[in-house]
Amino acid sequence: MSTIANNIAKVAARIREAAQAVGRDPDTIGLMAVSKTQPAAAIREAHEAGLLDFGENYLQEALEKQAELADLPLVWHFIGPIQSNKTKPIAEHFDWVHSIDRLKIAQRLSNQRPAELPPLNVCLQVNVSHEPSKSGCAPEDAAELARAIAALPRLRLRGLMAIPEPTDDPVEQHAAFARVRQLQEQIGAQLDCLSMGMSQDLEAAIAEGATWVRIGTALFGARTYPAQSDTPPANDQRNNR
Ligand SMILES: *Cc1c(COP(=O)(O)O)cnc(C)c1O
Repeated sequence: MSTIANNIAKVAARIREAAQAVGRDPDTIGLMAVSKTQPAAAIREAHEAGLLDFGENYLQEALEKQAELADLPLVWHFIGPIQSNKTKPIAEHFDWVHSIDRLKIAQRLSNQRPAELPPLNVCLQVNVSHEPSKSGCAPEDAAELARAIAALPRLRLRGLMAIPEPTDDPVEQHAAFARVRQLQEQIGAQLDCLSMGMSQDLEAAIAEGATWVRIGTALFGARTYPAQSDTPPANDQRNNR
């Protein structure tokens, strides 16, 4: 087995065990491979080993890889910070956007979603640790924002996304993810997704209800920058610690 196929098997086993530990069906947890800085060949390899969902943070890099991989039936998730002048290609080239944190971006994505494509699946990113430098809306603004986003015709609001402050303390990990879940429950509506959990904290996220885990390092190994002209954005905290 290749290294990536091996890593996928290990991550799948972690997901299965974490789900079973809390009595959840492992099939309700999606594995998104975060492929930022990884070459198209690594994505192809991961697809051959069974993965379909890929998450990218940097638009230009993502578009180049999508063009190279156009022969594969992949599902693309945008998970990075969004500048308003970049919404059009995101609306055109992605199936999901997990990193919406203000209404203006959501409105632009809705207006620019091509008519021939299904509504864009979106999650509202919440700054659950109240970190001033991080992306995401304030938790107290989430309910109102969610209602406004849910009313946009070409978006389908699926749930919340969060990147809690990294910590090795499982108690703190659980507490942060539980706050996201509680917020989701308060908002109610028909939200069916919680996008939370990365390589180091997927167990805690699954215990608290994650339906998408976003995994980079545990699948592809450590990232090396710069893969291109982009430097990691401020909220790419796994590389900035
Ligand atoms: C990089 C990144 C991930 C993956 O992080 P790992 O620790 O490598 O698993 C997940 N989510 C977001 C938003 C990221 O930027």
